Amino acid sequence: MTELKIDTKRPVMVTGATGYVAGWIVKELLETGCTIHAPVRDPDNSAKLKNLNALANASKGKIKFFKADLMEPGSYTVAMKGCGTVFHTASPFTLDVKDPQKELIDPALNGTKNVLDSVNATKSVKRVVLTSSCAAIYADAKDCASAPNGTLTEDIWNTTASLEYQPYSFSKTVAEKAAWEFAKAQGRWDLVTINPSFVMGPPIGGKPTSESFNFMQQLGDGAYRTGAPRFGIGVVDVRDVAKAHMAAAFIPRANGRHITSGHNTNIFEMFNVLKDQYGKDYGIPKSAAPKFLVWLIGPFMGIGRKVVSNNVNHVWKADNTKSINELGTSYHPLKQTMEEMFQYMIDAGYFKKKVGS
Ligand code: NDP
Repeated sequence: MTELKIDTKRPVMVTGATGYVAGWIVKELLETGCTIHAPVRDPDNSAKLKNLNALANASKGKIKFFKADLMEPGSYTVAMKGCGTVFHTASPFTLDVKDPQKELIDPALNGTKNVLDSVNATKSVKRVVLTSSCAAIYADAKDCASAPNGTLTEDIWNTTASLEYQPYSFSKTVAEKAAWEFAKAQGRWDLVTINPSFVMGPPIGGKPTSESFNFMQQLGDGAYRTGAPRFGIGVVDVRDVAKAHMAAAFIPRANGRHITSGHNTNIFEMFNVLKDQYGKDYGIPKSAAPKFLVWLIGPFMGIGRKVVSNNVNHVWKADNTKSINELGTSYHPLKQTMEEMFQYMIDAGYFKKKVGS
């Protein structure tokens, strides 16, 4: 792995530090001895900040909390003062929304503009690492078939998500596009994006509410016991995503977008790796659910029929070569990632009860 050039004299800023993905980035930064400026929505919520404070107490680094909200113009400026690097991870990741404009697009897009306005006003910042997503590259697994060689690359943008269809993916697409416009309009700081696929793996602690956990909650509560769809998807370990962010921040020549995805897979295969260890006590599916059945019952499980048509039994494939070659990213085996997450969730009391398969 390329050696990282970390200047621990300057603080770094991490937005959304209370989040699942950001937790591991904070851990990495603290272990190198960095001082982190962490603007959060509620710096007085000691329960929410407990795990981050515990990490700081056990490391060489320091963490300092500030109050900020993606929707409040200028609210990141104070926390950014003197920082050399900004990690912008904060963005709502939720699929169950009533008003996608208000709940997803506005915080993602206006939040990114808000943070980058502060970056433009803060001379010490030289690099911004944006947590984007593979969702800014594709909307449906079926898009892979029309990509060159059937494979998603960093050259591709999501062109089919909208406010009405896959609004979370739309929020990530418009936010990343806006960030590139900001970056190209000036020459003092540069932008590097990390584009993870679906993030799995244990958290740093607590009971995160990220969509990654809602998804596994359904599995642990038995929702897939009779079968899971071969819904094409990419998966990556949260710890690999954090290391990729570190490389994006501290390898001077890092540039552009980075597909950060360890495995080209599908939902049935993801669950199948848990069968040996947990099949006896939990509803790990033994077989793949037929597409017509998923199409019929999908809407009752919160999956629209267009999403089923465009994703189930479609192969998902992305090229992660750039992350390996330029950021030195290496990827955990899928089985280890899934087992460590599932076990964490059992221990943390996420699941209602044991459901024999
Ligand atoms: P979490 O829900 O755990 O984290 C989201 C973070 O965003 C929280 O810290 C939350 O703060 C913050 N946030 C949300 N709305 C606001 C707001 N209005 N003002 C300030 N902060 C806000 O999700 P993840 O860790 O999973 O996601 C983190 C990032 O990674 C997001 O950008 C997401 O799009 C991206 N990503 C995630 C993937 C995944 O599979 N998990 C895959 C690809 C990308 P608070 O604690 O106050 O709610």
